[in-house]
Parts: sequence; C-alpha cells; structure tokens
Amino acid sequence: FFDITARKTEEEATRHLAQHDLLTELPNRGLFLDRLGKALEQAERHQRVLAVMYFDLDKFKAANDTLGHAAGDAILQQTGQRALRCVRASDTVARFGGDEFAILLPEVGGEREALEIAHRLVASMAEPFFLSEGKADITVSVGLALFPAHGATAQVLQQHADKALYAVKRAGRNACRVYSSDCDA
Ligand code: GH3
Ligand code: MG
Repeated sequence: FFDITARKTEEEATRHLAQHDLLTELPNRGLFLDRLGKALEQAERHQRVLAVMYFDLDKFKAANDTLGHAAGDAILQQTGQRALRCVRASDTVARFGGDEFAILLPEVGGEREALEIAHRLVASMAEPFFLSEGKADITVSVGLALFPAHGATAQVLQQHADKALYAVKRAGRNACRVYSSDCDA
C-alpha cells in the first residue's frame, strides 16, 4: 500500500499552474481554448448558441505610466473580479496576457443576451478603481462573436471576436459590438 495523496495533490497543483494566469488566477488561453472546443461540441450537438467575448483595457499603458506597474497589476486583478461578477458560474473568464481577456458563454439565449452581458461589463469597468496609488478611470472595449451566426469553428469565432474588438477600438473605445462583415475593413 502506497499513499499517493501527496503525489496527486502535487500533480493537481502543477496542472493548475499550467492552466492559469499567475497574476489574476484566471484560466489562461490554453484552458480557455480547451473549454471553447468542448463547448462548441455541446452547442453543435444540442443546437445551442455560444458566445466568445474578447476584451482589452483602453489606454492601459497610460494608467501604468501614471500610477506605476504595481497599480497596473492591481487593476488587472480587479478587472478579473469585476468580469466574474458579470457572468454566471458556468461561464469562463480568462486572461490571455497583458491587458487582453476573454469570456466564454457556453450557453447563451442569443445575441441580445450576449450583448447585455457585454454592456454590463463595459459599465462595471467604467466605475472608478480605488488603489493605494490613487484613483484610476479605466474603460474597456469588447468584441463578440456567436456560434453559429459568426463562425462554426473556434478559430473563426476567435478571429471574429478579435475583429469586432478592434472595430470598437477604432471607433473610439469604451463600448462593445457584435461581429459583422463591416469589422473586416
Ligand atoms: P489600447 O486602448 O489600444 O488597448 O491601448 P493600450 O495602452 O491599452 O495598449 P495595449 O493594449 O497595446 O497595451 C497593453 C499595455 O499593458 C502594455 C503594458 O504597458 C501593459 N501590461 C501588459 N502586461 C502587464 C502586466 O502584467 N502588468 C501591468 N501592470 N501592465 C501590463
Ligand atoms: Mg489595451
């Protein structure tokens, strides 16, 4: 008889480290993609709508420069917490790196409901951040792509969510939009 509890715990910890972002403790891109793949299979099988939401902080470099890197880190951590409060427990909020985040809504009513969640995120981020270094006003830009309307594969959905996000950036930031072919321009 060997007690393998300690080894199992260690394996779990190693796996957790590999799949999460150290700063925010959110799932990383790898875990997000893993869940997106599984959610797409389910959505296809049960003919359900799924949404991929990309978001990126606006002018975050300036906030970092003014308040310092530690304050920037605190903003990124609080961003994760605010995003989690905008979604359900079965949704995934991930940090891809830098000030880039993503949300997977594996089961959403449709475009209107997904947009409602995106609006909630934009509003929640527009609330001031109170940090030991001072007050920070941060906004966020959000791009959305839905299965099946805007793509059938993880790759296309990600590309389209990204294009929608950059269309919001180009149009002046602090807003959200759903992908359409206008975003390709
Ligand atoms: P935009 O509105 O176009 O997104 O402008 P931006 O200034 O936010 O530019 P961008 O998204 O390209 O830059 C992200 C900045 O985030 C770059 C870097 O200064 C900062 N950053 C990236 N990772 C970290 C981090 O882990 N901690 C902190 N404090 N800052 C980070
Ligand atoms: Mg940014």
